[in-house]
Amino acid sequence: MYDVAVIGGGLLGCAVAYHLARAGTRVVLLEKDELNRHASGQNAGSLHFQLEYRMVADGDAAAERAARALPLHLDAQRAWAGLAAELDAPVEVVQHGGLMLAETADELDRLRRKASLERRHGLDVTVLTGAELTSLAPYLAAGVRGAAYAPGEGKANPRLVTLAYARAASRLGADLRTGTRVTALTREAGGWRLTTTPTAAGRGARTDGVRAAAVVLAAGVWTAELAAMADVRLPVVPVALSMTATAPTTPFLPHLVQHVGRRLSMKQTSDGNVLIGGGSPAKFRAVDGRIDLETAPELRYESLVGNADAARVVPAVLRLPVLRCWSGATTLTPDQLPVLGPLPRRPGLYAATGGSAFTLGPTYARLLAETLLTGEPSLPIDAYSPARFGFLNAV
Ligand SMILES: Cc1cc2nc3c(=O)[nH]c(=O)nc-3n(C[C@H](O)[C@H](O)[C@H](O)COP(=O)(O)OP(=O)(O)OC[C@H]3O[C@@H](n4cnc5c(N)ncnc54)[C@H](O)[C@@H]3O)c2cc1C
Repeated sequence: MYDVAVIGGGLLGCAVAYHLARAGTRVVLLEKDELNRHASGQNAGSLHFQLEYRMVADGDAAAERAARALPLHLDAQRAWAGLAAELDAPVEVVQHGGLMLAETADELDRLRRKASLERRHGLDVTVLTGAELTSLAPYLAAGVRGAAYAPGEGKANPRLVTLAYARAASRLGADLRTGTRVTALTREAGGWRLTTTPTAAGRGARTDGVRAAAVVLAAGVWTAELAAMADVRLPVVPVALSMTATAPTTPFLPHLVQHVGRRLSMKQTSDGNVLIGGGSPAKFRAVDGRIDLETAPELRYESLVGNADAARVVPAVLRLPVLRCWSGATTLTPDQLPVLGPLPRRPGLYAATGGSAFTLGPTYARLLAETLLTGEPSLPIDAYSPARFGFLNAV
């Protein structure tokens, strides 16, 4: 019998397990594949604290609604700055600032409204134009009219972060079981019984299931599937995305670059590769008429061309050969806010997913662990409650 069972060995699951173990909780983490195998290890590594393109594309009311997550952005900005020291591990966090670009007068206007909204919520962001922008970012194309500059933005290495949390959790006594798929969740006296089955990744994995007083669903695109095992419908939407990495070159791009008018995120890794993404779609495969979440989504030629085209705001990138393209899957919610907190009418069952959960993962995880431990997270999370959808019900 554990105090808490965490389902999912991505960034969220490993970070929740770390925070719980640090507080002395008996915690087990169950991962069907390897740790960091899915979105947490495949993402672009952007630490973006400004509202993203998808949050401001649908007008001011939608942007105001998405801005309800800005307290999480501010918290995460601080959390990343101290993460390497906290976990005592290299995670390649660089916070040299981020620029969100505008190329047209309309986009510049949208950028200004966005920055003013963000400043009201406490984010340090300034709109730069002309010589001020050129001197900060001489690599930008001449057609860029302005940019919102947030000095706390940056990047981290997705290949390192989740595993750093996992090692720290393990050092603190968390029981991390890979190759172990949860196939059923059953409520019973004093908690939950989790039925498990070993997968190909889990040679020697145990098959005897797990009992725990509380369960955290941190299963990325599979979170809705797991919630359904407890007869709860979570309206999170799986989204397939593609990424492009160029061959390495000498450092020339110190900032995270995004665009206010279209999907784009671009940065240079510590090895010199430029990563281009920001939401260009890939295509889910189907199996038996359903989305196949187990197989990497199919890359779409148009998206890869789109990534290259989007990169024209930094002309030097267009001369770099493409080294690798890949796809991954993540979750969004209908209102762009995370799902974070207890599931109503399911005592001891919690969920964390949705949105930019690499950037916000350290914060989601800490707040969820605090909720489990004390019922009083250090920031209010009611706005992100799974209960807000109102139609949570038996599937
Ligand atoms: C291409 C791409 C680029 C992205 N870029 C960024 C970015 O730059 N910045 C940003 O902030 N976010 C980005 N994201 C989003 C970010 O990666 C995700 O929000 C985040 O990694 C989600 O972490 P997670 O732990 O919830 O999910 P995951 O990393 O997907 O982990 C969930 C885990 O649960 C396991 N699991 C599922 N079902 C079961 C089960 N039944 N039993 C046991 N285990 C189970 C899975 O195997 C998986 O390992 C990007 C996503 C993609 C795909």
